[in-house]
Amino acid sequence: MLLKTHRSNWLLFFSYLSAFHKAGRQNEAVKVLEQLTHNAVVENRFNDAGYYYWMLSMQCLDIGRECEEQRKEMLEKFERFQHLAELYYVYRSIQRYTDEPFSSHMPETLFNICRFLLNNLTKDVPPGISKVNTLFALAKQSRKLGAYKLARYAYEKLQELHIPSRFLESIELGSLSIRSKPFHDSEDLIEGMMCYRCSTNNPLLNNQGSVCINCRQSFIYSASSYEVLPLVQFYLEEGISDEEALSLIDLEVPHTDEGNARGHNMVGNDMQALRIDGGLDYTEEDPFTAKMSFEQGGSTFVPVKVSCSVLRSMSRRDVLIKRWPKPLKWEYFRSLLPDVSITMCPSCFKMFHSEDYELLVLQHSCCPYCRRPIDEPN
Ligand SMILES: [Zn+2]
Ligand SMILES: [Zn+2]
Repeated sequence: MLLKTHRSNWLLFFSYLSAFHKAGRQNEAVKVLEQLTHNAVVENRFNDAGYYYWMLSMQCLDIGRECEEQRKEMLEKFERFQHLAELYYVYRSIQRYTDEPFSSHMPETLFNICRFLLNNLTKDVPPGISKVNTLFALAKQSRKLGAYKLARYAYEKLQELHIPSRFLESIELGSLSIRSKPFHDSEDLIEGMMCYRCSTNNPLLNNQGSVCINCRQSFIYSASSYEVLPLVQFYLEEGISDEEALSLIDLEVPHTDEGNARGHNMVGNDMQALRIDGGLDYTEEDPFTAKMSFEQGGSTFVPVKVSCSVLRSMSRRDVLIKRWPKPLKWEYFRSLLPDVSITMCPSCFKMFHSEDYELLVLQHSCCPYCRRPIDEPN
């Protein structure tokens, strides 16, 4: 109910905004929104903070589209607000855990979220987000899941920070008792961090951000479990327009059943095994996976660029496209495990494992990220 009330207020606010087409008034509106978002952060309403930052980002994108003089500034704001929206969106789970440690939490999801957040907090920490709470949650979940080395690391990092008294005892006990555990992380967890482009097992924490340590391809996360999705972003070769790309992919080539047979039943604990034998070894048949190779040892990221013929070889069901409005560019993603069903929200372009998304939409009647109602047409 609270959520609905909030939403209708904001919708009213936005319809009021859209009555003013002058960029000057829209800028005022952005200022008001920034203040309201700031309040949500100060009051620890991180769920709202995430949502408001998302709204702000879209408002900036609108201004950037309409007003050329402000385009550069507004697109930078768009990027920054999109990033902050996600940080607050995930942080609410950590806050809920540290406030109510005995209520039910999914250890794997919390573990993934803590790592995602820490990978993104290496430069600066946005107001309200607590590194102590994140490391504390990470230490606890790592221990639970057998990532003992990571748990030790989290406890060591905590010792360097100012710890609130309510955590002191738990952290002291935890950092003592973790010493009786093996000094390594569970093999399953390490193998679960495989890069879909180059098959490198990645470390559980990476101060370079959410990218592969070897090929530097960005990881694409599910916006609910924060597992890495089997997707690789690709770009169009010079001169290919979005419309052309779309029509080439839409020609619907017959799809080989190779991947299907192997990637079948990708649920729960089967995932590790299936990722290994169903993963990246059908390079010969697939012109796209051939494009994924790159010069080893180079320090710069080499994006996957595809030609018309590679686009023609793709099946529509393996491709996800974030159709950003202008002046942004569309973003293309190719699934490497076609039987892992992925759903992308048509409004915020966040991606989810389909079964997670369906469950979340049932619970909230809207997208958990941007709150787009499910009955709204695309
Ligand atoms: Zn890689
Ligand atoms: Zn959404």
